Amino acid sequence: MTNNYVADPKLIEWMKDIRRTIHQYPELAFREFNTAAYLSRKLDELDIPHTKGIAGTGIRAVIGKKEQGMKSVALRADMDALPITEKTGLPFSSKNNGVMHACGHDGHMAMLLGAAAMLKKHTNLPGQVILLFQPAEEDDGGAEKMIAEGVLEGVDGIFGGHIERHFKVGEISVQPGLICAFTDEFRITICGPGGHAAKPHESPDCIVAASYLITCIQTLVSRETNPVYPAVVTIGKICGGSAANVIADRITLEGTIRSTHQEVREKIITSLKRMVKSIGELYVTETELIFTSAYPPVINNSLLAGIAQKAAVQTVGESGVTGQPYPSLGGEDFSFFLKHIPGCFVRFGGEREDLPHANAHSPIFDFDERVLPIGAEFFVRCAFLFLQQTDKT
Ligand SMILES: [Zn+2]
Ligand SMILES: [Zn+2]
Repeated sequence: MTNNYVADPKLIEWMKDIRRTIHQYPELAFREFNTAAYLSRKLDELDIPHTKGIAGTGIRAVIGKKEQGMKSVALRADMDALPITEKTGLPFSSKNNGVMHACGHDGHMAMLLGAAAMLKKHTNLPGQVILLFQPAEEDDGGAEKMIAEGVLEGVDGIFGGHIERHFKVGEISVQPGLICAFTDEFRITICGPGGHAAKPHESPDCIVAASYLITCIQTLVSRETNPVYPAVVTIGKICGGSAANVIADRITLEGTIRSTHQEVREKIITSLKRMVKSIGELYVTETELIFTSAYPPVINNSLLAGIAQKAAVQTVGESGVTGQPYPSLGGEDFSFFLKHIPGCFVRFGGEREDLPHANAHSPIFDFDERVLPIGAEFFVRCAFLFLQQTDKT
């Protein structure tokens, strides 16, 4: 490989500056207006044509031409932040109160712009590279909405990645097959007439019904799921009740089901419906179960995982490339792209050894910025290797 695939110190500083600027102005899903405007200015600086306003705030940029017999490859970065109040104390901490880039998406955007800057310099690009800056990965599935607006038209393959604090800087994890779980989010409502706390015989108690339901839900995985297939059901939120001397008239529970096998997923959903209905009958309350979102699993194409593996070895060396022996029960809406075209999603090590508890979605989250050029170089190599590949995917 020539040096055209390596980020020079100036480019690394440029990426760091981008990451830090975006980090200061985080925006929630589908509200990434200033982020999009900033990315657009950077793409203009690089003289890369792009379309804004896809799925609201998404951007599709194009480098090179797809001439007869050539291929087109997409590289994707997510744009949204989280409703978390930052407590890192970093000099470039969030200036948007209550919102924080606590998942590393600021780094993903910086990496993709770094890759774009390198790719733009290549006059011999053997095909076309599409840059997808996607809104709303954390919530509401921005990928699906971008696809509906046609961003994958004419695209033959896609690569994406996530900064991962559980791996050291200089490590890239590449694994064919299923690497992220089915994600099904739900909301349960339990309603009753409500009443006086001293008169339990006059009103069914929604809090007691909800408590039993939560306990029952613990057996969905432990007693009803084939243990060889990983699965999780978590209730992450409970709301209800107004005072110590009032029987609550309404409780809502919100939770998520993570599974790695379609049959297991269906069984858990069916059993959850049964439990919710049964609790309603048992405690004479009205119950409702609504599924609020569903992400498919991330299933990496084996051919593209092979390309990613090669690109990773070229970037961090043989010893830096790891696999993923077990699927993550995390969700990732990159999976929607993979329903349409083959692709591969990897993880870039970004551990901060000095901050052992600064995990993703934590108010003290941070990553080691040395991962930025690694991600950018990896993307450039993936693009070249994919476009040079003559086999059909
Ligand atoms: Zn996240
Ligand atoms: Zn994320």
